[in-house]
Formats: sequence, C-alpha cells, structure tokens
Amino acid sequence: YNAKRAGGGHVVYRRNDDQESRLRLELTTALRRDVATAAMILHYQPKLDLRTGVIRGFEALVRWQHPERGLLMPDVFLPIAEQNGLMSALTQNVLSQAIRECARWHAEGNRVSVAVNASATDLRFECFPQQILDLLDAHDLPAKALTVEITETMMLTDWATTDRVLDRLTSMGVRVSIDDYGTHHSTLSYLRRLHTAAELKLDRSFIADMLTAPRSAAIVRSTIDLAHDLGITVVAEGVEDAETLDTLREWGCDQAQGYHIGRPAPIAALKPQFAKS
Ligand code: C2E
Ligand code: MG
Ligand code: MG
Ligand code: MG
Repeated sequence: YNAKRAGGGHVVYRRNDDQESRLRLELTTALRRDVATAAMILHYQPKLDLRTGVIRGFEALVRWQHPERGLLMPDVFLPIAEQNGLMSALTQNVLSQAIRECARWHAEGNRVSVAVNASATDLRFECFPQQILDLLDAHDLPAKALTVEITETMMLTDWATTDRVLDRLTSMGVRVSIDDYGTHHSTLSYLRRLHTAAELKLDRSFIADMLTAPRSAAIVRSTIDLAHDLGITVVAEGVEDAETLDTLREWGCDQAQGYHIGRPAPIAALKPQFAKS
C-alpha cells in the first residue's frame, strides 16, 4: 500500500485498491451479521441416476441474499467466510437447512438424498460429526440420506484429525464424496488414503471436452472403471448436452449433474423435477 502511494503513477490503482478493500470490509461486516440467518439461501441441483433415469438426490449450493447487492454467489463470499472464521457457522446453517428440507422431502414420500459441501475448516473440528448427528436426529433423517462433499485440498493439513472425522462420518452412515475429482495433485494417493469414500465426482473440466479430446475421454472412461473396482460411485459434473449424457451412460457412469439435467434452483422450482423421480 505504501509502495503504491509512494509511486506517483499508481493513483488509479490505489483508488481501486481502496474501493476493493472498502467493499471487502463492508461484505465482511454484513456476512458476520447474516452468516447464521435465512439470508443464506440454498439452491438445489439434481443428481440423475443414469441407469434408471431417476433423480436420486440434490446437491445444496449456498447463495447469499444480500439486502443491497442482490443474490451473491459462493465464489464472492466463501473466501471472506474462510478468512474471518465464519466458515463453521456457515456450514452449520447450510447443514441445518439442507437436512430440514430433505426430511421434508422424505415426509412427502420422496426418498431422495441431499449433498452438502464441507470446507477444510469443518474437517479439522473433531465435533463436526457429532453436530451432524444432532441435526439428523433433530429432523429424524437417516444418515444415509446425507452426503458430505469434500475436495482433496481439504485433506492437505492435519491428516490425523481429518481422517478421524471422515472415518466417524462414514461409520455414522453418512456418505463421503470426493468433489472436483482429478483437478488436484496426487489424486491417486488420496483415493487410496480415502478408503471410506462412497462417491467421486469427476470434475467438469474432463466432462466438458470428453467428446472432442481423446485424452479426456480416456481419463473419464478409466476413472469410471477404477472407481468401480474400488466400489465407488461415479458422478459426472457439468453435463451440458444430451450427447455427453448418452456417452457417459454408455461408459457406465452412475450419476450425472449439469445444466442439461437441471440448474441449481430454489426449493419452489424443484417440484417438476420431483415428478421425474
Ligand atoms: P461444486 O461443489 O463443485 O459445485 C458445482 C458448481 O458448478 C456449482 O457452482 C454449480 O452451480 C456449477 N455447475 C453445475 N452444473 C454446471 C454445468 O453444467 N456447467 C457449469 N458451467 N457449471 C455448473 P456454484 O453454486 O457457484 O458453487 C461453486 C462452488 O462453491 C462449489 O463447487 C462448492 O465448492 C462451493 N460451495 C457451494 N455451496 C457451498 C456450501 O454450502 N459450503 C461450502 N463450503 N462450499 C460451497
Ligand atoms: Mg460439490
Ligand atoms: Mg464439484
Ligand atoms: Mg467445483
């Protein structure tokens, strides 16, 4: 900041930096106020079973209904939550809403599952599994109806705690899913270490060009086979057209998500999708 102020030619940049940090400060204050409230709303995206054509469940994706700035997407506020110690409160709020909603679906006769994205912070808290158990009990939802999605980078630090938390979740009956599979380093070592994972989600980047790039196609096909050898369900992320969906079905992929199947949407818009299940 000082260096920029010293250099006379950086006035414009300095002003942008100021605006940027003012916006950040404003969002931080507002997020602290809203993080545990109904201002955090969930959109749900369907997970389609490719063998039966039935919707098996929904992934909960958080948005922030900001009073002045409208609907904000997770890439805007997740880093702010992470940096200000608000992540656990956010996850609790998301879990609570998602589990309550899923229990309601079950009560209406739709035995679908719900998936929630965890953060690295969550996996470092020994009490995280117990918090989930309490919410499941409170809403009378069976643990197997809940999937917790994690990414490989979340397992980089504090191995011992992370492994214990994931083992505990699995022994409770909660499904653990490896999100964005294939985008990180040492993906295969994580697959070996994460012996309790029930599902992997092949990253959108492989799905996007699998019809045009033979290397992506080979990676998708062999990952499906590898996962099946390990007894793991494969979900393709980011399916945007019918041809990709048909090809994934041919290759034996278990489930798919993507704009072609259904965009993330508020609860009120989900009714027609239930009709398909
Ligand atoms: P993710 O868990 O990998 O979720 C998939 C993202 O891809 C979502 O973006 C979704 O809207 C988008 N998407 C789905 N289908 C398609 C498609 O066909 N094409 C394209 N281009 N995009 C598609 P979103 O909702 O912006 O979420 C971004 C990321 O934010 C998520 O990636 C997840 O890592 C994180 N996130 C979302 N909700 C939560 C939450 O409640 N807690 C935590 N800790 N992280 C969350
Ligand atoms: Mg996810
Ligand atoms: Mg993903
Ligand atoms: Mg992603």
